[in-house]
Amino acid sequence: MAFVNDNFLNIPETYLFSEIARKVNTYKEENPTANIIRLGIGDVTRPLAPAVITALHAAVDEMAQSATFRGYGPEQGYAFLRETVVAHDYTASGIGIAPDEVFVSDGAKSDTGNFGDILGPNNVIAVTDPVYPVYVDTNAMAGRAGKPQADGKWEKIIYLPCTKENNFIPALPETRPDVIYLCYPNNPTGTTLKKSELKQWVDYARANDVLILFDAAYEAFISEADVPHSIYEIEGAKEVAVEFRSFSKTAGFTGLRCGYTVIPKTLMVNSTEHGKVALNRLWNRRQTTKFNGTAYIVQRGAEAVYSAEGQAQIKETIATYMNNAHIIRKGIEAKNLTCFGGINAPYIWLKTPDSISSWQFFDRLLTEINVVGTPGVGFGPHGEGYFRLTAFGSLAQTEEAMQRIAGWKL
Ligand code: PLP
Repeated sequence: MAFVNDNFLNIPETYLFSEIARKVNTYKEENPTANIIRLGIGDVTRPLAPAVITALHAAVDEMAQSATFRGYGPEQGYAFLRETVVAHDYTASGIGIAPDEVFVSDGAKSDTGNFGDILGPNNVIAVTDPVYPVYVDTNAMAGRAGKPQADGKWEKIIYLPCTKENNFIPALPETRPDVIYLCYPNNPTGTTLKKSELKQWVDYARANDVLILFDAAYEAFISEADVPHSIYEIEGAKEVAVEFRSFSKTAGFTGLRCGYTVIPKTLMVNSTEHGKVALNRLWNRRQTTKFNGTAYIVQRGAEAVYSAEGQAQIKETIATYMNNAHIIRKGIEAKNLTCFGGINAPYIWLKTPDSISSWQFFDRLLTEINVVGTPGVGFGPHGEGYFRLTAFGSLAQTEEAMQRIAGWKL
């Protein structure tokens, strides 16, 4: 009989969201009339923009006619979408990216997860702590993480703590990694790096021959001027960084599925046998072998996000989520709790009071006022003592949750 990839067996069961679901379900069984408000989810709730819906319908009609029917499309994405992405997301900001440096996909989870396919097994990986778990688990699957440790960390991964003490700005690593994952605006903390702060990472990567994998899934939520939307706003980044983007939160595509990854042709990494090699060519090879493209219909929907109507509509939706974020921040601050994020991201990261652990805070919030959030420790050891609320609920639910928090005897 065949052998499994034992690395998968090292990975603990995804404990966080299943444990949350278990606790909520148990509570509901015992309290069937409880009106539970969920501010823990990282999924959008508003429907797709009308401009996107119109484009999806038109694309469906094209698929119904032999003259306009489309079969397999380019694995890298249709030119119409790659060119629109470049014009809108890069050229318009003075960033020189070419369409063949953009790879359209079914989302940033797949791309950030799959990217390890083209990286060697011995690379040392660095992540911020807390962190979006996909970066860690996919490296564990590839054998780059070593064994899980009792303290919740992986043996071979370098963790870069992000806490209120360093204002959620990670210090440069003491030992040099080969690859660093950065996610800004950040999930789960909702915090950002200013341009000058991100520049330090780009300069470090250039000086130390390090690859940066930059996840910009939340760039559309940025409201402050000095927060970069793209790592390529930083000089020299095209030589060291890959950028991941997603239509999921930007335009409500969590169910439709579309994202893209930018790999500048100037980005060269090391091969043990071939000197410097271009990552763009290797990712193209990976995608053409393992991926048959994002659905034509979906790509037409994504293209419509960039139309004048599409832009106005998605901005309105983002504004409603950010209004929720503002309400949450105000409510948390009025409770004399410290919170972070929620200004350039749909996540609010609060410090639990009086050394209450993340899970104790979760239990009390659930059982005392029937509000559900996400314990920070689920995102990494340095998330202990923190708690995440999201702005993706409805206005009514957000307001109701904050009223309950206002009257809560903590
Ligand atoms: N990257 C980050 C930081 C995320 O928080 C998420 C989703 O929650 C993703 C990527 C996944 O995005 P997608 O829906 O495009 O796969």
